[in-house]
Amino acid sequence: MDKPLVDPFQRAIRYLRLSVTDRCDFRCVYCMSENMTFLPKKELLTLEELDRLCSAFIRLGVEKLRITGGEPLVRRDILTFFRAMSRHLESGALKELTLTTNGSQLERFAGDLAAAGVRRVNVSLDTLDEAKFARITRWGRLPQVLRGLDAAQKAGLRVKLNAVALKGFNEDELLPMTRFCAERGMDLTWIEVMPMGDIGNEDRLGQYWSLDDLRTQLARHYTLQDLPDDTGGPARYLRLAETGQRIGLITPLSHNFCESCNRVRITCTGEIYTCLGQEGHSDLRGPLRGSDADGPLEDAIRAAIALKPRGHDFDYSRQAVDGRVTRHMSHTGG
Ligand code: SAM
Ligand code: SF4
Repeated sequence: MDKPLVDPFQRAIRYLRLSVTDRCDFRCVYCMSENMTFLPKKELLTLEELDRLCSAFIRLGVEKLRITGGEPLVRRDILTFFRAMSRHLESGALKELTLTTNGSQLERFAGDLAAAGVRRVNVSLDTLDEAKFARITRWGRLPQVLRGLDAAQKAGLRVKLNAVALKGFNEDELLPMTRFCAERGMDLTWIEVMPMGDIGNEDRLGQYWSLDDLRTQLARHYTLQDLPDDTGGPARYLRLAETGQRIGLITPLSHNFCESCNRVRITCTGEIYTCLGQEGHSDLRGPLRGSDADGPLEDAIRAAIALKPRGHDFDYSRQAVDGRVTRHMSHTGG
């Protein structure tokens, strides 16, 4: 391996999240406006460029690759990319290949993803109520996602559910969702809603449900055991003694998690964001398209990592959405 990537705060970069499309078959209210304008296809990295880019990061020490979007499974021929990445799993350089999906296409793809070496998948699901699901995703249908979950488990994939905690929307589903996951052997992670992108008329402050409050409510029904942090990621985990299941809490707002951040994100156009909550980014598409040799690309990656900030500035505490970033989550990849 080449000299590994270490940022100015001595954090080794082992984890790459890659958005492969900005498009999606849902329009979740906290993520997109109903009338989104998507990028022209030529702006997107091709599958070959995605391969070159990921392979460069893996040479530089990335061990975990998460594919996201937009909805990664609506990108045309995306299985070709997953299959290509499996060579890095086979060589041992890549330890984990995974994805975050809304689950709509899992029924179709779960078997092939498992065959390509994917072992785990994160599925975003905010409610188990069909009418609420249609409301929050605007275009989604719950039964399709539930069939996707079944298909994933049948294919042997470990499933983790991600739910955005939304005040007045899914507060009443804390226990039903916990039980749903316990019965199916799924972990469940709750995410605080983040101030990303212009989403039309939705009220961010009105949506914000603090996970401290969620935790307090959970503690009324279960014995919570805090688990040590071993992921370098934003989630803090606890175990419910009664069911044994893991509950993750991603709290960018009420607690900052930046000091152990080992990850970087790349958009579907090849911009690298070394912090989800900052505007600063560098272009990798130029070096990718500018030369067939990987030297300029690796130099650009190193230069970008050298600019990784210490952390983000999201803050709801002054009753204003401070530290807000203008791009949508579907652009950077959640
Ligand atoms: N379409 C896929 C999905 O929904 O899982 C992958 C991309 S989506 C942008 C990744 C994650 O970001 C989802 O779990 C979604 O709920 C979350 N997300 C989107 N917008 C968010 C926001 N404003 N605050 C917090 N999480 C958000
Ligand atoms: Fe699509 Fe995922 Fe954003 Fe929902 S959260 S609109 S599924 S990208």
